[in-house]
Amino acid sequence: MLQSELSLIQVCIAQHSESRRNLVLAEEAGSRGDLERGCLHRALAFGQKIHADKARLTLEGLGQSLSSDGDMSSEARAQVMEELSSMAMTAATERQSLIESLILQIMKAAMNHSSLSKQRAQPISSYHVCQVCGFIAKDTPPERCPVCRAHAAQFDVVR
Ligand SMILES: [Zn+2]
Repeated sequence: MLQSELSLIQVCIAQHSESRRNLVLAEEAGSRGDLERGCLHRALAFGQKIHADKARLTLEGLGQSLSSDGDMSSEARAQVMEELSSMAMTAATERQSLIESLILQIMKAAMNHSSLSKQRAQPISSYHVCQVCGFIAKDTPPERCPVCRAHAAQFDVVR
């Protein structure tokens, strides 16, 4: 298996476990009555699930499959995020342009996710998740997704 394919498996596992973690956090926030936080975590979970699914589908398309969903520690997760750009470079050297562009897209949307999750919860009306790349916009969807250029119609609302 190529290094870039192994990287993609790591991305898939990391995004999958992040997504599940955010669903748990959304439930916790909901039970505290913190609706804004609950909404943010649901939006993040949705965006991360898009990444995990895309990585998995790409791997399947390349003839690779994931034996299990797996789970990762927060350190391992952080490390994967840091390594994303070197993964993209490896994919480029191996001329795996499909993996390279997918990793770059996931990286951009993941930075958007981490800046959103660091922000203090504010009274917002909604989050809009790009179904193509997982980018999350607050309040209103952009005319074009800043990460993948998808149209506003490709955004799903999370309240
Ligand atoms: Zn997008």
